[in-house]
Amino acid sequence: MNKAYDVIVVGAGPAGSLAAKHAALGGVSTLLIEKHPVIGCPVCCAEAISTTGLTNIVEPDPRWICSEIERVRLHGPGNSKAGIYHPKAGFVLERKIFDRAMAEQAAIAGADVKVGVDALDIIRGNNGDISGVVADDNGRSVEIGARVVIAADGVESQIACRAGLNPVLKPKDIHSSYQYLIGGIELEPRTLEFYFGNETAPGGYIWVFGKGGGLANVGLAIMPTKSPHKKAVEYLDEFIARRFSRYKIIERMTGGVPTYMEALPLYKDNLLLCGDAARVIDSLTGAGIANALLSGKLAGQTAARMVREGISGEFYRKEFLKIKGRELKFYYLCRQIYLKLSDDDVVNILRFVDDIFGEKEITGINPFEVITKIIMSHPKLLTLGRHLLTMN
Ligand SMILES: Cc1cc2nc3c(=O)[nH]c(=O)nc-3n(C[C@H](O)[C@H](O)[C@H](O)COP(=O)(O)OP(=O)(O)OC[C@H]3O[C@@H](n4cnc5c(N)ncnc54)[C@H](O)[C@@H]3O)c2cc1C
Repeated sequence: MNKAYDVIVVGAGPAGSLAAKHAALGGVSTLLIEKHPVIGCPVCCAEAISTTGLTNIVEPDPRWICSEIERVRLHGPGNSKAGIYHPKAGFVLERKIFDRAMAEQAAIAGADVKVGVDALDIIRGNNGDISGVVADDNGRSVEIGARVVIAADGVESQIACRAGLNPVLKPKDIHSSYQYLIGGIELEPRTLEFYFGNETAPGGYIWVFGKGGGLANVGLAIMPTKSPHKKAVEYLDEFIARRFSRYKIIERMTGGVPTYMEALPLYKDNLLLCGDAARVIDSLTGAGIANALLSGKLAGQTAARMVREGISGEFYRKEFLKIKGRELKFYYLCRQIYLKLSDDDVVNILRFVDDIFGEKEITGINPFEVITKIIMSHPKLLTLGRHLLTMN
């Protein structure tokens, strides 16, 4: 066994770096490992986050903010549209810099950070508890001991699989996505664009998130079960050719976005899961950065107390669900409704959203309230959404 730590965090995405930072701040020896040699690269993300999702956990820093979002434009079938003007809506990040800055914060808090270290398996002690991880450390096989392991290794979490958590996703529980970073385009500044409709992105949507300087993340997520004969990239290429008269593709990326599941795999014995590994994703939009930050912070704080005070991982599960449990379930149910909408329903919803928001300046949105109003406005949605209404 190589050097042992109190806490090992696997994966230096937003969840892992926050977990390592808060474990170290909790006064226990902490190691953060990342399989890639460069933190934040590659990253598959459209990089948008709400103001509260970010600032509740991390102080914004101009070094990793590309653009501040103040407007959202929603486009539906038949040229239907709606706009929302919210001057403090959120940010488009530069994740390559943001992820590294979060790992730097973990290091400043006292965590050791090692890159090029790929966790391959967990080690179990005589009592069945996890006692560390086996890893490939830049080509050398190592065993690293730990009293608590935090899996923050993303949507395909090896550690969760090895521990018997994270069941295989069914096709209905995953969106397939494709994204380009494109340059040389003109966009309305500080604005996010979304495009909906069964011809545009079946069961999902297309996004155009401007990053400033003529750059944008343009991507889409679709439900593969709703489009058996056409791939995500084909919808995206058709859209880009319609939307932009000229553009240059600078990067391309593909990935899967899983949805929430009823029994979230947040912990088992002395293993805590956070971020995408724990499936703490907003199932309606596919947003996961804010929940990765929050779950990472809570997992790190809990891990330190597990080592110092002997508390259980159940503390983390309860704390996280107290803050996010209802919201995650709500968005999951919204997604079930969304998947049943016809193009006409989408047009009606956009009309309704435009009536509510128009170009009026707003300072905050309560998604529960807005979605409830939308459901109440339409008899078909009322039938589909009766479970949702009982949650309020
Ligand atoms: C196309 C696309 C667009 C998206 N757009 C948005 C968006 O605009 N806004 C938003 O909020 N969310 C978005 N998401 C979701 C968001 O990217 C994730 O929810 C977020 O990155 C989760 O953070 P994480 O730290 O849990 O995992 P990740 O960011 O995936 O980080 C996991 C880290 O673990 C490392 N790792 C994996 N296995 C190992 C191992 N065995 N050993 C060591 N290290 C390992 C990986 O290399 C990686 O660095 C998008 C997702 C996709 C696919």
